[in-house]
Amino acid sequence: NETLTNIAKELTELDQKHYLHPLTPPKLQYEQGPPIIVSEGKGVKVTDVNGETYIDGMSMLWNVNLGHGQEELGEAAKEQMTKLAFSSSFNGYSHEPAIRLAEKIKTLTPGDLNVVFFTSGGSEANDSAFKLARYYWKQKGQPNRKKIVSLSRSYHGVAQGATSATGIKEFNSIVSSKAPDFIHAEPHLLECERGDRTNENYDKSVRGIIEQEGAENIAAIILEPIMGAGGLMIPPEGYLQALRDLCDEKDILMITDEIICGFGRTGEQFGVDNWNVVPDMLTFAKGITSGYIPLGGVVMKEKIRNQFIETDDVLFHGFTYSGHPTSCAVALKNLEILERDNVLENVKKMEEIFKAELKKLEKNHPHVTKTRAIGLLGAFELYEDRDNGKPFDPEVGAAFQVVNECFNHNLILRFIDWNGSNIVAIAPPLVVNEEEMKEIFNVVDKALTVFE
Ligand code: PLP
Repeated sequence: NETLTNIAKELTELDQKHYLHPLTPPKLQYEQGPPIIVSEGKGVKVTDVNGETYIDGMSMLWNVNLGHGQEELGEAAKEQMTKLAFSSSFNGYSHEPAIRLAEKIKTLTPGDLNVVFFTSGGSEANDSAFKLARYYWKQKGQPNRKKIVSLSRSYHGVAQGATSATGIKEFNSIVSSKAPDFIHAEPHLLECERGDRTNENYDKSVRGIIEQEGAENIAAIILEPIMGAGGLMIPPEGYLQALRDLCDEKDILMITDEIICGFGRTGEQFGVDNWNVVPDMLTFAKGITSGYIPLGGVVMKEKIRNQFIETDDVLFHGFTYSGHPTSCAVALKNLEILERDNVLENVKKMEEIFKAELKKLEKNHPHVTKTRAIGLLGAFELYEDRDNGKPFDPEVGAAFQVVNECFNHNLILRFIDWNGSNIVAIAPPLVVNEEEMKEIFNVVDKALTVFE
């Protein structure tokens, strides 16, 4: 259709000239324009300006959990905007959607994570958690506790603190911006965290780092229950509990970054619920609104807020859009639908198919290995010689090739190739059905023949 082609052409040119994209090579973008200009979506599918339909196998940025085109969320936004578009949350000002949402989140989070601080997104949530953790210790008379320990390969976002905590080195090397007082430990060294000093990696473990830096200087550790952008790493059984025990032993705050895992992605309400661990603070964003509108935040234990009410001091931290009424109204509707439609049950059902399909890929394709999934968060890896652990030459761009081939067959997935890895991530909307799961894997199966 000529009209569509002309619109696509016009948008492509304007995009090239005036739009600098995140996480994109600017030169490639400038020279070639966007690979896709999405115009609408329904369920697990999106359509571009050329009228071409794609399966969104990543829920875009692991956030469109209820799928595209959920009209009820749009209606909730309209209703709130026309009633009260904005009200401050500074100076104690409040409004009903934020109050109701804070209480709702309290009912979903484990243990006594009962107090919520709102932000606009995940990076702000993590920066807020770091500031609040340090402030907690300052108010408690331990101002030296400033250091934040995070994991290599972790992703916590791109604000100053979040970038510094992020363990994917590329994010910190764009400018020399890593803030002081952020230290990275190696992930998932279970035995070391349980106290095994004989392990050759002990010095790089969280426990080893805490001993080197001195617990009295450390405010908090932060980790994703399941590492997302760093390569979809599910921790070994007992790992989260070992870190919880370590934090209790050393009197350090444990923060879990639930920005991907939160609100059902793993088949439980939160990632930590898979292992029955309760952190001291939990950060969220993405799934709270299924990506329909920006919102994030920190949920903290009452002991943290109680420290803040020991004095009359002002909490000098907050964003204009902390608890935006429309965002909160959409979040409330989103959480209502998740519950009403038993979406978590669907996640658990689809998880079985997901795992079986991944195993089938491994059986049918000689380069596929290390398949894994928890809820609707999954991945597989590509090795040149999987039996001997020989990776593909980075020049081959193996994961990129597969994802690109999927894209050519109208399936959106994501490749992860930090540190020479070749990981393909799959995270469809939580409302995906069996037929759509099969459609996804039919395309992946076809795409994998690029190597054969
Ligand atoms: N933390 C994790 C685990 C994430 O996956 C992300 C985003 O992908 C963030 C933090 C940053 O969130 P935002 O992009 O909303 O700032």
